[in-house]
Amino acid sequence: MKRIFYAYLLILLLFPTISYGKGILRDAEIERTLKIITLPLLENTKIDQQNFKVLVINDSSMNAFVTSGQYIFIHYGLINKMETVEQLQSVIAHEIGHITGGHYIQRTSDIESARTLAGIGMILSAAAGLVSGDSNIAIGLAAGSQSASKRNFLKHSRTQEASADQAGIKLMAAANINPHAALEVLEIFKGQELLTAKRQDPYIQTHPLNSQRISSIQKSLKTLNFKKNEKDKNIDYMYNRMRAKFKGFTEKPFRALQTTNIKKNDELNLYTRAIAYHRLPDLNLAQKEINKLLELKPNDPYYNELKAQFLLETGNPNEAIKYYNRALELEPNELLFNVGLSRALNSIGKYKSTIKILKNIYDKDPRNGRLLRELAIAYSQNGELGWASLLTAERYALYGKFNDALFHAKRAQSILVPGTIAWLKVEDLILEIESINK
Ligand SMILES: [Zn+2]
Repeated sequence: MKRIFYAYLLILLLFPTISYGKGILRDAEIERTLKIITLPLLENTKIDQQNFKVLVINDSSMNAFVTSGQYIFIHYGLINKMETVEQLQSVIAHEIGHITGGHYIQRTSDIESARTLAGIGMILSAAAGLVSGDSNIAIGLAAGSQSASKRNFLKHSRTQEASADQAGIKLMAAANINPHAALEVLEIFKGQELLTAKRQDPYIQTHPLNSQRISSIQKSLKTLNFKKNEKDKNIDYMYNRMRAKFKGFTEKPFRALQTTNIKKNDELNLYTRAIAYHRLPDLNLAQKEINKLLELKPNDPYYNELKAQFLLETGNPNEAIKYYNRALELEPNELLFNVGLSRALNSIGKYKSTIKILKNIYDKDPRNGRLLRELAIAYSQNGELGWASLLTAERYALYGKFNDALFHAKRAQSILVPGTIAWLKVEDLILEIESINK
């Protein structure tokens, strides 16, 4: 038993930060913002608002797609490219149109698992293949069939595009959001249909563009009634904050700093700069900027969270814990704050606290690679190796690394007591992976 334990520890130590490529970006503030800008668009649909999520993929190219009635995936590159919140809402409304039209069903009929961990991993690896232009990567797994269909895995037909366009602009008008933004988005991509596939944005490959689409949207816009609401300042503010945050985290720090007004001490500039300095890394300047933000808004949960992250990543876990707790005090419903907190707790050896905090969240939100990692570390250090292996297997599955996932799942299976919850979960995961690998 002890030998297995140390072997396991060694694995965790050897690969502390395995790179998964195109993963899902999990961030409390960004998910909340996306939820708030999406809710009005769901009002007139039968979609279950509680479980619906817009998830951001860590990818600088432009794409957005649906895989089930529950998720919309958007590359951060697309969010960065949109010029207004209405444009982003029109992209989301169009995807909702694909959902309400049931367009994902044909594609996923032989992949029951589009909503499971392995299913999401499979779809992400399929999307990555599409992005890199290498249709052989993983898409074979996804489509479970011959080469011709690989490339088309996430691709919609012209008819589906037209119907999602119409549904999208209607949802926007019904929510009194200017539907002309849909046209502006197509203008951004216009001209790309003439490029070779390699040079196109993946968005054009998944949502084929043609002049007819534009003209039929133009036609419908003339007949649509919608009230021009006064612009919602709060939504605009949240949207701009999200963009400032993305800029800090996704652009090269030098570039982010160059294109941010150094003299201006308004909130958004400070936000981008704080993050860019932290990544540079210039720890002093990062601290200065985040402290200015906290002076402006001491009760902002997300600024407290960011301060905690800076402290943790610069080797100050005890101080970090204070700020994570403060963030949770301000916004107790932000489950994702607990993941950061657990990372800090793990780093000072408080594994039992991590288990206590993350066990509940794991049931509510199992699609978080970092959560799976921190909880696996805590279990492993606490001697619960079966659970540790199960969570590690799930993390690999989430990112489409099915061979590694299977390896850890089999290990978990050999350790766990048959019939227990964890053992049943492992059984399910193995079946799922084997059906995908077939
Ligand atoms: Zn589409």
